[in-house]
Amino acid sequence: MYKLKKIFALLIVLSAVLSGLPAMAAEDAAELYNSRVAAKAAQMEQKYGVTIKYPGPNPNYVGIGPGTLNTMDSSLDKIGPALVKRLSAWSREYTGRRLVLDFTFRPSFDHIAENALAGYTPELSLMEFVVPTPGSNSFISGCTPIAITHEFGHLFYEFIVNAHRGENLRQNWSRLNGQGYSGRFVMSTHASSYAAVTLEEDFAETFAFALIMTRPGLSMSARMLNSQGGDTRLGLKVKYLETLIRKYTPEAADTLENIAKSRNVKSSAVWNGMSFSGTSLEFMGYTAPHNVIKPLLRYLGITAAKTPLWEPEIGGWDVAASGGRRYLVFPSGSSAELA
Ligand SMILES: [Zn+2]
Repeated sequence: MYKLKKIFALLIVLSAVLSGLPAMAAEDAAELYNSRVAAKAAQMEQKYGVTIKYPGPNPNYVGIGPGTLNTMDSSLDKIGPALVKRLSAWSREYTGRRLVLDFTFRPSFDHIAENALAGYTPELSLMEFVVPTPGSNSFISGCTPIAITHEFGHLFYEFIVNAHRGENLRQNWSRLNGQGYSGRFVMSTHASSYAAVTLEEDFAETFAFALIMTRPGLSMSARMLNSQGGDTRLGLKVKYLETLIRKYTPEAADTLENIAKSRNVKSSAVWNGMSFSGTSLEFMGYTAPHNVIKPLLRYLGITAAKTPLWEPEIGGWDVAASGGRRYLVFPSGSSAELA
């Protein structure tokens, strides 16, 4: 999408660079911004074999920023470019359509669970990620590391179930889970409470957590082993996931390397002399997500005295608030006061 516009925008930037204009009119700033988004999207389309769609100018700027695409790119990197490419190629074979990653506005989705902010429709070869409308009061986004990898977990599931029927994925997974899907969450069985809802969601959550819970503070390693040192049901599911990757997508060695890290992760991260843990750290190592901080601070009731500083090491903003207090603010909407 926006192919013509993309070329046009790139030409404008090139001519601006060549003529070395010192000052920039408002429309030129918008064009430059839009062309940066378009260039990053084009690079990712090439890298992963996908099509990226996003809301158009509103009024002059496109509806996502480079930060949105950086979040997507870093998350796809956690899944591993080889596996993403293989899955997008399969989706194209299966449906006759290129896999579309569609960023979309849904202003009414203000306070609902993260998983409903993203979705995958196999028959349409379509993944949708809700992003906050610029100027809205919402900071909740479907463009988060866990949501993105979760949707690719669904795609991997469809790939196995449709292209490798002999695997009997449902039966095998069901056996490892050992109980039905009643919604009753068991720490040593499910990656998250959402995983206890259905087999498909369990598979997608296990896939996402095995890839994301690989950094300090983002840990489920203890839950993967029982007190005797053997695997828990969760540990067995992660092992089965690795078997599937090794068997059906042998080119995805980087994915396996990343999952292997999930077995040996410190349960907390130390930053600024304080300990942090939990899924709010999912942006650890990422660049700042786009278009989130202002409504987020409003939601938390924090008035920033200075421009918040993104801290990639911990994946949150260091906010000097008016009144001399200092906070670490996470994109998920949680915060901690710093000493
Ligand atoms: Zn899901």
